[in-house]
Amino acid sequence: MNILTVEALTKSFKGLRAISDVTFSVEEETITSIVGPNGAGKSTLFNMISGYLKPTSGKIEFKEQDITNQVPYRVCRLGIARAFQISKPFPELSVRDNVHVASSFGRAGERDPIATTTHALDICQLTSLQDELAGSLSIGNLRRLELARAIAARPVILLADEPCAGLNSTETRDLTNVLLQIRKAGITVLLVEHDIKAVRRVSDRVIVIEAGQKIADGKAADVFTNQAVIDAYLGTSTE
Ligand code: ADP
Ligand code: MG
Repeated sequence: MNILTVEALTKSFKGLRAISDVTFSVEEETITSIVGPNGAGKSTLFNMISGYLKPTSGKIEFKEQDITNQVPYRVCRLGIARAFQISKPFPELSVRDNVHVASSFGRAGERDPIATTTHALDICQLTSLQDELAGSLSIGNLRRLELARAIAARPVILLADEPCAGLNSTETRDLTNVLLQIRKAGITVLLVEHDIKAVRRVSDRVIVIEAGQKIADGKAADVFTNQAVIDAYLGTSTE
């Protein structure tokens, strides 16, 4: 079942069309990745879905509800959470307390902060680090903490913008494992990621955006062998 639908979405900044007539839908409990060169419009797309930017035209539907012009906190209460690349935890609080604080926000409805925190730490493989101070974490662990804080908001959909950026291959592997755990926990993931290996590993579906337009959409294996994608995004080099 489709849980999120983006229809003819367009965002113009003065003269620039950052996103132009983009349409796609996201199936429940899958990982959908959005890839494309720098400046393609990926973050702009995320900003519209999460309510930080108002679309110029088009429509966004979440669970058949029109959320096109919703403000961020309402989008969050409906169950769309966002993990940021630059994590800003409370450095003097433990990992567990940081996640616990996040569990007070997010999707509306009944909450059990202790159970939610324990579950989020478990999914993000942070249980053994729960008593460490957030300020002492390595970048790889910080990224997982950022995901844990987003999960603590009990989202239906998680938007993650380049969670693997700047991570080494071991940290990237750990993070992709966490993304797979998140999907297993029943959360739908919408991912923007540059690391193609990571994208291929986790994605049920890949959408390619170039210069604000969707140029491909399908299974990873098909999308990355598509000539238009190779030309536009991967380059025409021997690689
Ligand atoms: P990506 O995340 O794919 O790298 P962005 O969505 O950040 O791309 O940017 C898409 C285009 O929109 C870029 O040309 C960028 O300079 C422009 N842009 C993004 N945000 C703004 C803004 N707030 N005001 C003006 N231009 C913007
Ligand atoms: Mg971006």
